[in-house]
Order: sequence, then C-alpha cells, then structure tokens
Amino acid sequence: MFWDVRYECPQCGAPQDLDEATRLVLCHYCGVRSFLSASDLFRFALPHKGAVDAPYYVPYLRFKGFVFRCEGLSIHHGLVDITRRAVDVPVLPVSLGYRPQTLVLRHLNVGAKGIIFDNTLHREDASSLAARYTDNADKGEVFHRSFIGESTSLIYLPLLRHESQWLEGVTMTPLESLDDESIAGLSQSGPLSPLIFLSTLCPCCGWNLQGEKTSIVLFCPNCQSAWEAVGGGWEKVPAVSVVHAAQEDLFLPFWRITAESSDGLITSQADLIRITGQPALYPAEREGRPLSFIVPAFKMRPDLFLRLSRDFTLMKKPFDLCEGAPRNVFSPVTLNASDALESLPAVCATASAVRHLTFPILKGLRFICKEQALLFLPFSETVNELIQRDASIAILRQAVLMGKAL
Ligand SMILES: [Zn+2]
Ligand SMILES: [Zn+2]
Repeated sequence: MFWDVRYECPQCGAPQDLDEATRLVLCHYCGVRSFLSASDLFRFALPHKGAVDAPYYVPYLRFKGFVFRCEGLSIHHGLVDITRRAVDVPVLPVSLGYRPQTLVLRHLNVGAKGIIFDNTLHREDASSLAARYTDNADKGEVFHRSFIGESTSLIYLPLLRHESQWLEGVTMTPLESLDDESIAGLSQSGPLSPLIFLSTLCPCCGWNLQGEKTSIVLFCPNCQSAWEAVGGGWEKVPAVSVVHAAQEDLFLPFWRITAESSDGLITSQADLIRITGQPALYPAEREGRPLSFIVPAFKMRPDLFLRLSRDFTLMKKPFDLCEGAPRNVFSPVTLNASDALESLPAVCATASAVRHLTFPILKGLRFICKEQALLFLPFSETVNELIQRDASIAILRQAVLMGKAL
C-alpha cells in the first residue's frame, strides 16, 4: 500500500499529489524533472484540522519490507507494512492504523513550523519489531531473521493544545489521559535535514537520465552509466551487462555482491557449496573463486526473490560480461545494495540441501561486501514468461509486474 504525499515543485512551487515511493518527479506545470532524495530518512506529516500552524509533532516509525526467518527446519517469509509509535508515551496510540492511507501527507523538513519531537525508536529496531508480527510461537529454534526494509520513514502525528486539553490533530479527538508532563519529558528534534531535489542530467555527459518513477537508480542512455542518489549528489554505480544478448531481449537488474562472512569461514564459492551441501557440481578450480551472490535489484514476492537468488548464485558457468547498463531495462531498480546484502543469509538457507547442518551456521552470520555492481541479465519474452536462456530460468512476467506494487 502506497500513501499519497503532497509535493511542491522546487522550480515553480506547483503542488502535485504523488505516491510516497515516487522518486523521479515530472512537474506538469513547468516541465522540470527532479529526483527526490533525503539525507537520512523521508519524514512525512499527517495533516491536522486545527487553526494553529504550529502543532506538536509526535514521530511514528514506518517499516515496509520483507521479513525472512529460518526457524526449526523451515524458511518463513512475509511482507510487513506497519507503523509504530517512536516515543515512550504509552497513552498515545501505538500505531497510526489506517490514518496515512486515507489522507494526503506532506514532507516535513527544515523550516517546518511546530514543535517536532525526536524519535527514540530507530531504523535499526525494524528487524526485531517486524519479527514480532511474523514469528510463530514455539515452532523451533530461530537461526536467522532479516528484515529487507526498502522503505523506512518517519510519520508525524500532529497534536494540538486547546484550552488546557490535548487534541489528536487529524480527527480533533481529545486525548483525555495525555498530560503536560508526558509531553514535557520528550526531547525536541535537532534541525531537520532538507528534502533534496537532484537534477536529472547525467553528471558524466549531461544527457537526460532515465528511469521509472520509483527507480532508485537512474541510467544514462548515452554513456550507459548508472547513478544512485547518495547524500546530496549522484554517485556512479558500477554496472555490467551480459555480452551476447539478442536485439529484442529485455534486461532485468540484479545486484552482484561479492562478499565473505564476517567470521572468515565463508569466502569462496566452494565454501558456499560445502555449507549448503550441494552435490559436487563444481570443479576444483572453484576453490579459490570469490563468492558472488546474484540477487534481484527489484521487488518481487519474497519466496520468488529467494528462489531466483539461489538459482543465479549457484549457476555453474559465469556470464560473459561487458561494462555498462543496457537501454531496454524491463524493471526499475527498487532495492538497494545494502538490502541485497541483508538477504544473503536467507539466500544461503534457500540454497541448502542439508538444512539441519546449514541453519546452525546461519546463527549470527553476517556478510561483508567486498564489491558490488548492478548486473543486467537478458531475458527473452514469451506471452507469460521472461526466460534467461544461459541459466534456463523462467520468471512469470506477472511476478515482475506485481513486484512494482509491493
Ligand atoms: Zn514546476
Ligand atoms: Zn551520460
């Protein structure tokens, strides 16, 4: 579920309501294209009905993403989309419920009027919090749990003070049990960072960067470079494509993450083969070959995400690659490389043919990224499927299209 957010064009100030996942914005009035970015988190405020223009803003953390969990001998996965109160004031609602889905939010940034409180619940708490909504009781030992949170943001609930009473500003409902002392105990947020509007001209050659509205990486069709917004500017993302693609092929983006485990026990492809108990498919020269995972850089159903990652990561023959991003990309990049890195233990679990031996190894397992690049794989189209011929892997077209709505 996406939320509507009011956006004002940085060039002409014209308002537009867009869904919250929109990054690439075209102003219908002045025609300027900008890319929206935030230096830490996106912050949104719910609208209030009060006459004052300076309410008190209480933060709620919003987590939206996949949860993977290895428990007993099973792999569980699910989608979560929750909000949680990010301050310790128990009389305030624990979640925002359906409020954000029915209202138009606006960005809350530097210069916002009102008292804005600091959040004591942080992005890092997402994994354990999300787990509470997905764990089954007593099914077995939990060996691994990860949260692939492609969108974590702060949503602010406005409170108003009216005739010595606190009101919830969205509905103007009195908050009977909220007292001044609880509010006085909250610390105020430091200066908020500005919303960043980046120009969509290629930093390398000046051409117009291309992407879909939810793309987090834009491509230059002229110099075939790929760009990701980092801090207040564009950073070049290494991009490689398969050499022998047919003219009519479509490309899907994947992250190729060369990684090793933080304990130094899993450093090569051969190590992955061993810990996952694969049949001896690989020749001995793979022993020293670095371990490269290949995981989708686009959202799709979590079970398909894991299966595709496993199948491409375990491929026997590496792809022949050349540098640069192709022009005909079928799906935007909507997952970043750090999310891809988070998913690697779950990919190992999915690859395992001996879960009773692999799962205990996953406990506390972390991978350290040595190198990352976007890898574009060519697929031929049939009516219902996209087929990767080198790997003999088919993906339902619909699964990729539906991933755009996740
Ligand atoms: Zn404009
Ligand atoms: Zn360029």
